[in-house]
Amino acid sequence: MKLQEFQAKEILKKYGLPIQAGGVAATAAEAEIIALKIGLPVVLKAQVLVGGRGKAGGVKIARTPEEVKTISAQILGMKIKDLPVKKILIAGAVDFEKEYYLGITLDRVSKSNVLIFSEEGGVEIEEVARTNPDKISKYEILNPKQIQNLKFEIPNDFIEKLYDLYVKNDATLAEINPLVSTKDGRFIALDAKMVIDDNALFRQPEFAKLRESTEVDELEAEAGRRKIAYVRLPGSIAILGNGAGLVMTTMDEVKRAGGEPACFLDLGGGSKAETVASCLELLTRDPNIKGIFFNVFGGITRCDEVVNGIIAAHDKAGVKVPMVIRLTGTREEEGKKLLAQTNFLTYAASMTEGAKKIVELSR
Ligand code: GDP
Ligand code: MN
Repeated sequence: MKLQEFQAKEILKKYGLPIQAGGVAATAAEAEIIALKIGLPVVLKAQVLVGGRGKAGGVKIARTPEEVKTISAQILGMKIKDLPVKKILIAGAVDFEKEYYLGITLDRVSKSNVLIFSEEGGVEIEEVARTNPDKISKYEILNPKQIQNLKFEIPNDFIEKLYDLYVKNDATLAEINPLVSTKDGRFIALDAKMVIDDNALFRQPEFAKLRESTEVDELEAEAGRRKIAYVRLPGSIAILGNGAGLVMTTMDEVKRAGGEPACFLDLGGGSKAETVASCLELLTRDPNIKGIFFNVFGGITRCDEVVNGIIAAHDKAGVKVPMVIRLTGTREEEGKKLLAQTNFLTYAASMTEGAKKIVELSR
């Protein structure tokens, strides 16, 4: 999960990295109160989870209370890369001398944490990376003691603290761009970006709570609480299978048959009837679903368990849309016998056939 700039900066502060005084507002009036408390000039910054806010006009300096109000209202009315700006950060403006880039990220190729540093930080960093890659240094950090030997223009304890917070918060990215130096020799983090590893949320309760409270889709949030691997999609055909690869292939097949997936739902290996029933019950809450396609490859998962789960949920949750099932593997015959006794499950002998059937039935 990505953190907003103000959230990432709170973490920086906690770990002893200097940031500007600041506060978050949702209205121009709130912004003015905060600005007067901090002292003018201030920088007003759109809080959206995309980069390049500066270039899009989402970062502006205000020198008077009037400017704070007009610029805040303007930024709060903006969309940046399709995301509406709902909050702004008001921070004390800094008069800086030089902008640096400092980041630590997980590099999947070298399988290590990589430190990235540049003396040419700021909004043009991508341009620097493209046209002047020598200006960007990369170091694999295998042991944090390595940091002591670095000879950059910024203090090493800055890097040590960033590394510390990166590790302790299970981040896959911790980036400061720009990290600025001032005429009187101080260093301040003017912007911060952090990404937390979703797979670590079980041991990062604060982020898990944050995620819960900012989750936009109610169904995805509920699926998360039930530990169901579910992604809501804009189409009308729900797709369930056991195993992420199988579900993705099924989505392709449904698209090929002219349908649009309403979700990705991985039942998981060895799923019991109750799990299947819980998944199906969840889907009845999505009014856009016009048909449901189960693609079951029995291995650890037993075909008859899945069918039993569907029957239980159908009776209890009242599924009103057509359902097609393709099943093969462990206890296939038992599964088929069960579904022959129902009048709401259509059998398909292959994935391709099933995809065609569900597209037809849900028209
Ligand atoms: P981004 O465009 O989303 O990366 O947003 P940043 O927070 O990095 O801001 C973009 C640029 O605005 C920075 O590179 C700075 O040049 C400038 N900027 C941001 N904060 C301040 C500030 O307090 N004072 C001044 N003078 N410039 C700032
Ligand atoms: Mn930035």
